[in-house]
Amino acid sequence: MLQFQQLRKQYHLGRQPVVALSDVEGTISGGEMVALCGPSGSGKSTLLNLLGLLDMDYQGQVTFGGAPYPKGAQQAAELRRSKMGFVFQRFNLVPVMSAWENIAYPLLLNGFSAQQQKQRAIEILDKVELAKFAYHRPGHLSGGQQQRVAIARALVHKPKLVIADEPTASLDSKTAQRVIEIMKALGHEMGTTFVVATHDQKMAMQCDRIISMTDGKVSKE
Ligand code: ADP
Ligand code: MG
Repeated sequence: MLQFQQLRKQYHLGRQPVVALSDVEGTISGGEMVALCGPSGSGKSTLLNLLGLLDMDYQGQVTFGGAPYPKGAQQAAELRRSKMGFVFQRFNLVPVMSAWENIAYPLLLNGFSAQQQKQRAIEILDKVELAKFAYHRPGHLSGGQQQRVAIARALVHKPKLVIADEPTASLDSKTAQRVIEIMKALGHEMGTTFVVATHDQKMAMQCDRIISMTDGKVSKE
């Protein structure tokens, strides 16, 4: 589903180059939930940003469903909008929108009718066990509830790939556990591939497979 080869990413701190990824390669199958695990600074977010087409300034190749990633910003944005979903550490919900409106947003961007937006948003809210909270704004929800809304938003347009960067790092361990379980169950049910960055080994162990990173490299098992 997702293949990457010879990925190399260099940042610049003033005139100082910082190599964040070197010679990174891997293959991720459709429907798989993969943990990207490694200490802070090992390159997890950098790799997720490349795989999620949020950063296109790198060397190497990525293919998605057999096709190379587009080079143009507009095609990249289209692929991101239609085939990908994102979950972040800080939830990143829109504070003035209700839970269902936050979830419906990707459907709006993908041209769904108002009626479909609401129907699908409510359906998936039920799957993350928050149907009762459809009209609540994020500020009136707990951290774990907000992250479940964010997961519903990432999945509502049935993307092929969900990128999650430290999705449980702002949550206590019990809540984090629940969030991981919901991601895994829904990912498997919908056949969605998940790539989840985490510095927490315990979280990583719950995924189908672990890709370990150290100093910008994938460690061979
Ligand atoms: P992780 O997500 O595993 O903590 P990152 O991908 O954020 O790691 O960072 C990898 C390396 O790249 C680190 O050395 C970090 O300091 C560096 N880095 C990340 N973002 C930037 C940036 N915008 N400018 C310069 N260096 C960066
Ligand atoms: Mg990071």
